[in-house]
Amino acid sequence: MDFSITPDQKAFRRSVAEFAKLELQGDVRARETSGEFFWDGWKTCAEFGIQGMPMPEMYGGLGLDVTTCLIAMQALGRHCRDSGFLFSLNSHMWTCEIPILDFGTEEQKSHYLPRMVNGSLVGGHAMTEPGSGSDAYSMRTTAVKTNAGYVLNGSKVFISNAPIADVLLIFASTDRDLGWAGITGFLVEKDNPGLHVGKPLSKIGLKTSPTGELTLEDCFVPESAILGRIGQGSAIFSAEMEWERSCLFACHLGAMQRQLDECVQYAKDREQFGEPIGNFQGVSHKIADMRVRIELGEMMLHKVAWMKSRGKRAPLESAMAKLVVSEAYMASSIDALHLRGGYGFMSEYEADRDLLDAAGGKIYSGTSEIQRNIIARFLGL
Ligand SMILES: Cc1cc2nc3c(=O)[nH]c(=O)nc-3n(C[C@H](O)[C@H](O)[C@H](O)COP(=O)(O)OP(=O)(O)OC[C@H]3O[C@@H](n4cnc5c(N)ncnc54)[C@H](O)[C@@H]3O)c2cc1C
Repeated sequence: MDFSITPDQKAFRRSVAEFAKLELQGDVRARETSGEFFWDGWKTCAEFGIQGMPMPEMYGGLGLDVTTCLIAMQALGRHCRDSGFLFSLNSHMWTCEIPILDFGTEEQKSHYLPRMVNGSLVGGHAMTEPGSGSDAYSMRTTAVKTNAGYVLNGSKVFISNAPIADVLLIFASTDRDLGWAGITGFLVEKDNPGLHVGKPLSKIGLKTSPTGELTLEDCFVPESAILGRIGQGSAIFSAEMEWERSCLFACHLGAMQRQLDECVQYAKDREQFGEPIGNFQGVSHKIADMRVRIELGEMMLHKVAWMKSRGKRAPLESAMAKLVVSEAYMASSIDALHLRGGYGFMSEYEADRDLLDAAGGKIYSGTSEIQRNIIARFLGL
């Protein structure tokens, strides 16, 4: 396996980094306080081509391979502090756009993808319910066949982008007796009668990413709203999770690199006992560990990208990478706060954002325990 990246990938990473430094800044704290979505960022990202990175040119995308997308997401995570905004971007791309590309009909692709790429439509996906999270396929939302289509009833919770989404990939059971094999995905638009979107939920982290609840009350959708085949929902969900568990967590690796850069600088600048604190092994070893975590996470994510770019599935590798990167982000966020002593605890240094976002990373896309369960299953346990 070759870990080197091409001159084109390096150049693209540089341009994404420059773009993020220039266009994706602003007052993140103010947006966090107001809960305002970074619409200007969304539009400039679309103009730059971010939402279209993995999309074929025929839909207006850049047609980039998985590794290049991953490298770009890492650069965004490093240079854009609005991690909630990046989270929304990731949800849109990997849990709605990619499933439409991979499982949609030509009609669905040409209807949705060009507008998802140019930023006029926001997407999300809805699997989790009040009574089913980790045990996702025990969902209660049903889709009952009628003459002309399906009628959906149920409720969904913790849905990223729900308050701002134009189109949602909603999973429902078309046959509860079949369990996971009876789950089907439907593309439902926000003004579809019977779909009610709740108010944004108040979260402790990722505050600039709007999250909401959905209620489906006799929500009729035509057959043309089915994504893939009836009963193919779990396959769609597994495939999209491979993307999310690699590219979203590449953003976290980028954030870890930013933490590292800042901690190295702080350890050089801050003096105690007449010398820079970086001279103390207790401090420098913490920073060395932060560096090692990035290296490890990078190798694991690049392996997933390498497999996917060869058309291989990577359910085990993406679960392992998600587990390692999410736990590493948490550990580095604690270290980055601690290393600054009392200053780390002051809001000015914004260590709370990384810490709370990292806490979320151990929950969404399947909790750490669920990733371990997946890994154990591959070992026959
Ligand atoms: C910021 C954020 C964004 C999200 N965005 C979306 C979204 O866009 N769409 C969507 O559908 N969902 C979304 N989710 C939901 C997320 O996928 C679920 O929260 C997650 O899967 C956990 O489900 P739960 O919250 O019901 O917890 P539970 O499943 O109730 O788990 C509670 C605890 O029990 C543990 N546990 C459960 N089962 C087992 C087991 N078998 N073995 C060991 N431990 C176990 C869990 O690890 C956890 O610690 C989001 C969540 C967050 C926090």
